[in-house]
Amino acid sequence: MITLANRMVTVSYHPSVMDVFDKCVRRRDIELASKDLPFYRPIEKRLPGGEVLVDGRAVLMAGSNDYLALSGDPRLQAAAVEAIRGLGTGNSGSRALNGTLALHEKLEEELAGFLGHEAAMVVSTGYQANLALSPLFGPDDVLFADRHVHASLVEAVRLGQARFRRYRHNDAADLARMLATADPSAGRLILTEGMFSTTGDLCDLPAISDLARRHGARVVLDGAHDIGLLGTYGGGVAEDIAVDVQTLTFSKCFGTIGGAVTGSRRVIDYLRYHARAALFSASLPAACTAAALAALDIIRGEPERRWRVLAAAERLRAGLAELGFAVVPGRTPTIPLHIGDTPLCLRAWAELLDEGIFTNAMIPPSVPEGRALIRLSVTADHGDAHLERVLDAVAAVGRRLNLIACAGAR
Ligand code: PMP
Repeated sequence: MITLANRMVTVSYHPSVMDVFDKCVRRRDIELASKDLPFYRPIEKRLPGGEVLVDGRAVLMAGSNDYLALSGDPRLQAAAVEAIRGLGTGNSGSRALNGTLALHEKLEEELAGFLGHEAAMVVSTGYQANLALSPLFGPDDVLFADRHVHASLVEAVRLGQARFRRYRHNDAADLARMLATADPSAGRLILTEGMFSTTGDLCDLPAISDLARRHGARVVLDGAHDIGLLGTYGGGVAEDIAVDVQTLTFSKCFGTIGGAVTGSRRVIDYLRYHARAALFSASLPAACTAAALAALDIIRGEPERRWRVLAAAERLRAGLAELGFAVVPGRTPTIPLHIGDTPLCLRAWAELLDEGIFTNAMIPPSVPEGRALIRLSVTADHGDAHLERVLDAVAAVGRRLNLIACAGAR
């Protein structure tokens, strides 16, 4: 058999000009900090009881956004398998051409109803759902975004070329000041997340909504982390206070992958023909669409799942506070341990893994410079014994690396 493996490929470029690849230097700050890197770590297998196999070792997963633990649910798996049997493993085309399934339309109708909007558009990831907003962000508009909004929203603003102003995280007074001095001829739009992805705190939607009304601004809320988890019916932060547009992902509470934009029929119909991120990309596979539909049924029918997660998160927050960590009081299952220094954060991650706990190291650019943190996530798989394991590990590593002093200093 002929292979390319031993064929030498040499590419030459003109020696006197700068090579575009010169910028491809390794991130030595990461590599020097630890031999045991948190990024791109392969999970070999998922084990029962919330554990995963990493380097042949069973460790407790405390760094997953699968809050409702649905990705291992047999009902989602059965729905996905049935969808694959009927529709195959991929759609080989965009929604606009050959890639729309009856299943997509069913999911859109159900999501719109669930979130109290007229219409929805299903796309292939949550990132894409946010990018798909860019046609709403034109050069004649001015956008006001919380400083902590997700990278995909920032990217969408760049694509749309709107003027962009960032208000201090969750600071309604700062937002009010910006709105009051905004160009009166510009369209105005406020961008926020419902539950913030790195810090687990909630946006002040009553204040945002009030300011929007007073200043004639639209509100777009990314409900990636709160839809399915918060609100009486699982509809998220915006369940009781209407927003103009919501985006969501199926990669967290819905236990699969995919995303959607919901809003008025007028806006969604416009996006269907203008959102290039969706128009020029293959549509969500049947398996994921069917799994998301099954997840939505569970979200609506089993509220006790989210109550369990929220109660467990409260217990973990209390335990961490008892250890001396400055944990923000709250109920959400995303809990940051503020560390600050990037190398120390990477070391803490590696030591927590040694102690049998898989967490997330959030370093720049995910967080601002000097604000590295370990993110712990509670899921429906976590009972008291799991929380004890997390607390024991955090206590041991916290003592060894003197983390409690850094966290307390914030
Ligand atoms: N928005 C927020 C707030 C997120 O945290 C994420 C995922 N990290 C996304 C959007 C993107 O979602 P997805 O992973 O489905 O692309």
